[in-house]
Amino acid sequence: MASCRVPMLRTVRPDDPAALAALLDRSTITAPAVEESVRAILADVRARGDDAVREYTERFDKRAPAGAGYEVASARWDELARQVAPRVALALEHAATRIRAWHGRQVEAELDVEADGVRLGLRVDALARVGLYVPGGTARYPSSVLMTAIPAKVAGVGEIVMVTPGASPEAMLAARLAGVHRVFEIGGAQAVAALAYGTATVPRVDKIVGPGNQWVAVAKRMVYGEVDIDSVAGPSEVLILADESANPAWIAADLLAQAEHDVEARAILVTTSAALAAQVDAALVEQLATLPRAEIARTALERHGVAVIVGSLDEAIEIANRYAPEHLELQVPDARAVSARLTTSGAIFLGQWASEATGDYLAGANHVLPTGGAARYASPLGVHDFRKRTSLIEYDEPAARAHAPDIEALAHVEGLDGHGRSAMIRVPGASTGGRRRRNDSLMSHRLGELVTRGLRGMTAYHVPRPAHIRARLDANELPYELPEELARALAAELATVPLHRYPPTDAGELRAVVAQQLGVAPDWLVFGNGSDELITLLCAAFGEPPVGRTRAACLYPVPSFVVYRIAALGHHLEPVEVPLRDDFTLDEDAIAAAMTGERPNLAFFALPNNPTGTLWPPEYVLALARRHPSTIVIADEAYIEYGGRTLLAHVGVPPNLVVMRTLSKVGLAGLRVGYLVAHPLITAELEKVRAPYNLGSLPIRAATWMLTHHAELLRARARVVIDERTRLLAALRGFPALRVFDSEANLIMVKTANATALWQGLASRGVLVRNFDRGLLAGCLRITIGTPAENDLLLDALAAVIPGRWV
Ligand code: PMP
Repeated sequence: MASCRVPMLRTVRPDDPAALAALLDRSTITAPAVEESVRAILADVRARGDDAVREYTERFDKRAPAGAGYEVASARWDELARQVAPRVALALEHAATRIRAWHGRQVEAELDVEADGVRLGLRVDALARVGLYVPGGTARYPSSVLMTAIPAKVAGVGEIVMVTPGASPEAMLAARLAGVHRVFEIGGAQAVAALAYGTATVPRVDKIVGPGNQWVAVAKRMVYGEVDIDSVAGPSEVLILADESANPAWIAADLLAQAEHDVEARAILVTTSAALAAQVDAALVEQLATLPRAEIARTALERHGVAVIVGSLDEAIEIANRYAPEHLELQVPDARAVSARLTTSGAIFLGQWASEATGDYLAGANHVLPTGGAARYASPLGVHDFRKRTSLIEYDEPAARAHAPDIEALAHVEGLDGHGRSAMIRVPGASTGGRRRRNDSLMSHRLGELVTRGLRGMTAYHVPRPAHIRARLDANELPYELPEELARALAAELATVPLHRYPPTDAGELRAVVAQQLGVAPDWLVFGNGSDELITLLCAAFGEPPVGRTRAACLYPVPSFVVYRIAALGHHLEPVEVPLRDDFTLDEDAIAAAMTGERPNLAFFALPNNPTGTLWPPEYVLALARRHPSTIVIADEAYIEYGGRTLLAHVGVPPNLVVMRTLSKVGLAGLRVGYLVAHPLITAELEKVRAPYNLGSLPIRAATWMLTHHAELLRARARVVIDERTRLLAALRGFPALRVFDSEANLIMVKTANATALWQGLASRGVLVRNFDRGLLAGCLRITIGTPAENDLLLDALAAVIPGRWV
């Protein structure tokens, strides 16, 4: 034969990158027409069920259902199984026994671990029902029935349903041996569709396994997701790695065993010995002469048969790993050692006695293996393919408490605040905010004990600033920005501030200007990051309990400015809250009683008061200071520009009187500059607890510049607000539904029957006021005086929301 001299295996050298790439590339392209027709079949079976299955079976397989349907009745099944030749039946039983034994060892561990109050489990359950595809026709593989059905059976699958276009006696016997429950004599894409979607007669399965032709492969890929599938099988392949010690005739036989599968099968020899390659080639020619399927094998070898001649074993291993073959035969002396370095094969056959055929039939290991390079990531079919895992998660309360803040932090950053809430709602009081780190229940318990008692159960001060608001009347700010020209001049001024230096620790130039404007000595002043900070400094510096007491007290009327309470609680002071009368005037008797009874270290009076706008008599506060020399009495004059007479002239006489001021209410709230005036006996102590650089250089310079050059502008703008207050008070009193309180501040408190609904109605019209509708202030809304236009907006919104306006 002329072909005797033609090498059967094309020789490839590793230094020929193009040839190597061609060898490694096994990508297959499915004809679009096949995909189209499979898609149509799937849709049709899904829609019409058994009718469609019958039509396609009659059209493609030329078969009509026997009797009621395509299910193989038990009697026929038995009859077919009995037709198997005894020798074959014996071999099948032998194979089944070995496969069952091996797969019985594939136990998957369940997990159950408890640590720190969290119990995690991994439970393994069998799938309820699986489908086996068994090809018919020329490729009748009873061995594949064993290889797919036995692992399912061992896994504990409830029902194993087999489909096959031609129920051969051998396949039916194998199905009996393996424990298949039902067999349907259908095939092709329509059989896959029936298993995936279920029909009146074919039950819907959870997973479909088993090889098939192109239509079956495409159908499996398309129903994936609806059901699970095993890998989509491509042409079978073997890579034989051999050196000069190997037997060329045996290698040739093994290559032919692969090549006879079909014309696309891959038979590859990778060898360090060119002489061996030549001998194998000769043996192939010789053995082909007598092989029954010589035609198929020859074509397969012509198309895909390759001998790669490498320079070393290392090189051979590298190529094998890159190829990731379905089957890999190691015909080298120390096969075990070499096998350890081969990590991407479906199955490795070690040494000269383990031909691929042993694994195909009898070894017991599964012969359903990843092809086409999928062995890089996929594994042989096994028991685990018919089981699924379920995670089990159990928490006790301390663990839930410990984990909630981290859950909330992560949920928030992912924009899923509902998740955070669902964790936090179970553990009220779990600390949030701040830097979040891994935490265990013990740690969070300890931290909980460290928190200042007064802060437990408190929520942080927060003013929401929604975006769609047209009139912001919720924070007692002055409603005017700086005139543009002035803002630009200020910017130029600020440009000269040396930001690489710390600010002066004593507020420098600002202290000088304020001292000069108020006519006090500089050491009678303390500057704060807003007067908020001054309130906390007072609590920090003057918190020593009086003789006979365990805690110092801090007195203030309520409702009043909420930071008095926050600062007191944060510094272990006992809040002594004296309720105002119904009309928000001071209950002087109650205050007198509390002053004597509680002997507070500090007493705060906002003159005028926030949030009520009431002006309590400054003389009363002065008299109180005189009467109680061991209480520091603070006249908080935050709103002094809007009403009242200052007590500034009395600071020092008595020495326990403090006057506190802020730039916030005259249009500089963003600067955060407040100050207090007090006897140096007091300021000296406050300076000790003040953070050294509490005021930044920019606020210092801006405040100094504004007070030096534009003090009159600040006062003038406040006067505009006072005029607006007069107008607004009158207009609000036009609403009989509102009780309107007098105000000497830049705010007006109103009381009404359904305050929260009114607040919502205003907000929905772009007018934001402060809702105090709780506790002592039930029914109250606080309206900051805005610009005339903003106030008009408010009045219009009120008219729209409150029915029956009285003019
Ligand atoms: N005192 C009173 C009565 C207040 O209403 C406020 C702020 N609303 C402050 C002090 C604190 O003002 P700041 O910290 O902005 O100086």
